[in-house]
Amino acid sequence: MTTSPLSLYDATQEDIAALFPNEPKYRVGQIWQALYEKLKPVDAISNISASMRQQLAEAFPVSLQLQTEQVNADGDTVKFLFQLRNGGHPIETVLMLYADRATVCVSTQAGCAMGCGFCATGQAGFTRHLTSGEIVEQAVRAAQRAAHLERRLSNVVFMGMGEPLANEGPVRAAVEKIHGDIGISARHLTVSTVGIVPGIKTLSKWPLPVNLAVSLHAGRNELRDELVPINKRYPLEMLMKACEDYLYAKNRRVTFEWALIAGVNDTDRDAEELAELCKQLTPSAHVNLIPLNPTPGYLTQGSSGNHVRQFASWLEDMGVNATVRRNRGTDIDAACGQLAAGQHISPVEITRREDI
Ligand code: SAH
Ligand code: SF4
Repeated sequence: MTTSPLSLYDATQEDIAALFPNEPKYRVGQIWQALYEKLKPVDAISNISASMRQQLAEAFPVSLQLQTEQVNADGDTVKFLFQLRNGGHPIETVLMLYADRATVCVSTQAGCAMGCGFCATGQAGFTRHLTSGEIVEQAVRAAQRAAHLERRLSNVVFMGMGEPLANEGPVRAAVEKIHGDIGISARHLTVSTVGIVPGIKTLSKWPLPVNLAVSLHAGRNELRDELVPINKRYPLEMLMKACEDYLYAKNRRVTFEWALIAGVNDTDRDAEELAELCKQLTPSAHVNLIPLNPTPGYLTQGSSGNHVRQFASWLEDMGVNATVRRNRGTDIDAACGQLAAGQHISPVEITRREDI
């Protein structure tokens, strides 16, 4: 059996040093800085020789082959569909440009085993975990794209395909590299989980205090069991305790994600249950509301724009802060119907839009 070569962003400094035993030590530092700080593709690393570039590219090939790149009608969201070199599976990465920041939403698995019925990734099932390098490479590719638009990547959300806390080791390694080598601060990194309680506990022991987003979608076990099957294993009481402990350990705001599904989880009763849960945390959890994106395998639709605003105002009347996320890129099927982390409804101004 032939093993696939290590991919470029999985290679350590020692791996690179071993490839060039006759070169001075500082070369590795130059290569590392070019790859992670300057975000250069190997063929653009100009302070090493052409033959070193070739050796590097052959020993440690990149993982992500771009299949398609789509830009939404507003020109502020770019969705990349990549194929993994090892196995050929498709994954998605989304770059979102805002007035004050540029955020990439990265996938952590090809597929997902959690089986949430409303989620296109869940409908497709699990294929394999991504390596830390495959996760980091998504951030690098998005940062390179942002740089073409004269924007600097500022935030990374682990909210693409897959469940980050079901692939905890590689996700942690990716977080550390994105923080330590690319230079994005922990407060600009967010891990989103469906609510894997032991994973949240492990997350609270990570050295880096990343933001935690929990995909709640229902405030009573009976409904959450249906929408998010893992709730049967980790019901709301356990999940809330884990969130409290996370807040205590890390002092980072916890966000609840809530995809509004018409007639399912968008009534005043649902708003009350959600508000109760938010207020169990100190400070209160913040809520991100997003109308459900339509997916082929789930018949119920997202709540209407008016109803989403109504739901947000119910929450606000009960003292809970909610942000309505724009459903960025419905026109490009952004992120398998699960586009992450917008904070504004208003259209975003971007310059040089024609370049996107
Ligand atoms: N597995 C993790 C992270 C990836 S999913 C999690 O579940 O949190 C990222 C977010 O997209 C989650 O909040 C998820 O519930 C949401 N999502 C999934 N399918 C969606 C859809 N069809 N419409 C809107 N949001 C969706
Ligand atoms: Fe997996 Fe998240 Fe989709 Fe649920 S919502 S199936 S956990 S990716």
